[in-house]
Amino acid sequence: MRRFRLFKRALRRIRGNMDCIFCKIVQGEIPSTKVYEDDQILAFRDLDPQAPVHILIIPKMHIASADALTEENAGVVSHIFVVAKQIAAQEGLTNGYRIVNNCGEDGGQTVKHLHFHLLGGRTMAWPPG
Ligand code: 5GP
Ligand code: ZN
Repeated sequence: MRRFRLFKRALRRIRGNMDCIFCKIVQGEIPSTKVYEDDQILAFRDLDPQAPVHILIIPKMHIASADALTEENAGVVSHIFVVAKQIAAQEGLTNGYRIVNNCGEDGGQTVKHLHFHLLGGRTMAWPPG
């Protein structure tokens, strides 16, 4: 049993979380409209856009949420923010944009794989709902 658990954990580390739709997008098992990709991160258009530009930027490694960040895995977040501004420029968001992370149940997170929403192309309201 223990060996099976260790095997599953190792497999998950290699393949990502097998129940996770964003891991499946990373693996190419679910199609997406990619706008940026490198060895650490992937950015693709949201299926249900909430603004003229709505892009999701995710680490390729499965991290469940912002609450699961540690000193060891958090480096990817700064990389995401540097790439986010490049994507924003590429998308013509010269007048500003918003980067959102929903964390956990009360934060409104529906997909349990860390992701940042890059939203732009309209004026954003504040406070968020
Ligand atoms: P959350 O609510 O967790 O912050 O955001 C999840 C986002 O993922 C939502 O905006 C939702 O529209 C998007 N989403 C969910 N499933 C898919 C999918 O299969 N493909 C794409 N491109 N976006 C998805
Ligand atoms: Zn995942």
